Amino acid sequence: MRVKCEACGHKAIINSRNEIDPKVIDLYCTCTNPQCGHYFVAKLTFSHSISPSRYQARLATVDFLRSLPPLEQQELLKQVHKTG
Ligand SMILES: [Zn+2]
Repeated sequence: MRVKCEACGHKAIINSRNEIDPKVIDLYCTCTNPQCGHYFVAKLTFSHSISPSRYQARLATVDFLRSLPPLEQQELLKQVHKTG
């Protein structure tokens, strides 16, 4: 990924990254323009999903199934096998 120096518009190099949490990362950047020398932090944040992760869908399905009484779980699983 590319980061631009907001002071002069030149390309900046990412020196290191600090993961604040899984959705927010601080990028420590240095401007490549020797006339500028700007050293700064850019933030990379997760915004939103366009298509959900298959891992998340699987976890949500398992959680949902666990929330049902065992008989209803079996009924649903039977239906899955019929249509699949
Ligand atoms: Zn610069």
